[in-house]
Amino acid sequence: MKAPNHQWTEVQNSLRAEFGDAAFKSWLAPLNFENIDENTVILSSPTKFLKDWIQRQYMDRLRFFWNEVNPEVRVVELVIKDYDTMPPVTLSNNNEITPSSQPEKSSDTSKNIEPLIESFDVNLDPRFTFDNFVVGRPNELAFSAAKRIAEDETVRFNPLFLYGGVGLGKTHLMHAIAWAIREKTPERKVIYLSAEAFMFQFIRAIRHKSMMDFKEQFRSVDVLMIDDVQFICGKDSTQEEFFHTFNALVDQNRQIIISADKSPSDLEGLEERLRSRLGWGLVADIHPTNYELRLGILQAKAEQKNVDLPLNVLEFLAHRITSNVRELEGALTRVIAHATLVGRAITMETTQEVLRDLLRANDRRVTVEDIQKVVAQHFNVKISDMHSARRSRSIARPRQIAMYLCKQLTARSLPDIGRSFGGRDHTTVMHAVKKVQELMASDQNVTEDVEILQRSLGG
Ligand code: ADP
Ligand code: MG
Repeated sequence: MKAPNHQWTEVQNSLRAEFGDAAFKSWLAPLNFENIDENTVILSSPTKFLKDWIQRQYMDRLRFFWNEVNPEVRVVELVIKDYDTMPPVTLSNNNEITPSSQPEKSSDTSKNIEPLIESFDVNLDPRFTFDNFVVGRPNELAFSAAKRIAEDETVRFNPLFLYGGVGLGKTHLMHAIAWAIREKTPERKVIYLSAEAFMFQFIRAIRHKSMMDFKEQFRSVDVLMIDDVQFICGKDSTQEEFFHTFNALVDQNRQIIISADKSPSDLEGLEERLRSRLGWGLVADIHPTNYELRLGILQAKAEQKNVDLPLNVLEFLAHRITSNVRELEGALTRVIAHATLVGRAITMETTQEVLRDLLRANDRRVTVEDIQKVVAQHFNVKISDMHSARRSRSIARPRQIAMYLCKQLTARSLPDIGRSFGGRDHTTVMHAVKKVQELMASDQNVTEDVEILQRSLGG
């Protein structure tokens, strides 16, 4: 059996390999190994916040990896060290840097107090450039806006708010902006980070009483990009600081770019001031891909990888893998990897064989169109009534139920759903969802209808 310290090192290596350098640095590196007591490992975390976070996000894997290097270990426990000396969470006017009041640290923990800037280490994916981004109807607005910001030093819309479902290219576009600016105007200071990392920096700044540095670093940038802001929704103090940073940068006419999985109006748990401020600039949504775009992306990727794929295979993939670009890429990679391994040409048969599980999962996904069809049949109304302006109850009710089911069974946003129902507003959809929920609570018939429909849609 290896010494406990070495076990910890191995576990750390496995964690880094699994979650990547950035996540490791932000979340896992601050943990310290304390002790092993029979089957229990004790690790310490500098803050309660971090402890809770690790508990939720990483505990399973942590336990798994320990158990791999030391089969006796069954439990990993987290304790908070130095929690008592943590300063109270005051956000404003706490700009003083007071290094003398730092609690005494062993040399082991002091390495965690690195200058903040290091952890902004940009971490840009070299593949995520404008050249590698395939443009089509669903993403052309987002693409042009991103391009414009990268090329034009004048701030024309602030912020640029990019939103869309997972795997549709938000991160890709943000990295592309950063690359383009670096190349064209390297003197402009760009910071890209995930909202998660922003939050972590913020919490750490409070912890180490370095709010001044924290603010300074953000406020001296020309372009600030925060990815996946849905992450800070509901985290009040982080939102607050983000809001101040945001305002300070906008006042100085610096460019801000935000991404999220929903539009500002659909983000839940977002403070009203921040929501309206986020909507001030240009809000560009990336729609789900269409067939042409998927085919274009497949062709571009196959070309990049220098493989010749039969057109019918590409068409087949574009037809069948409709979820998002990440899965589409994954499918292509798998097909190519398989062909390389077994040394045979790629055909329709091998493609279907290799992707069987993925194809099945894509088939199971319910679309808005499916829902409209099934609901119309069930209530014996026309599918066109789902889009029509008719408001009689016999039609409005099924339409509301269909909207409700779209909200429950698909990942589409409220505005998106509204658009699919004859261009209705997202507030109409919101109202429909609420209405159906009320009816289900009071009317057994409605509950049954919804349940039958859900079952026939496989939900
Ligand atoms: P998001 O941040 O919206 O979840 P990503 O930007 O991470 O999505 O994109 C997922 C993957 O799909 C990445 O590998 C990205 O390069 C690729 N991708 C997405 N959209 C496009 C596109 N239009 N052209 C080429 N690749 C794309
Ligand atoms: Mg992303």
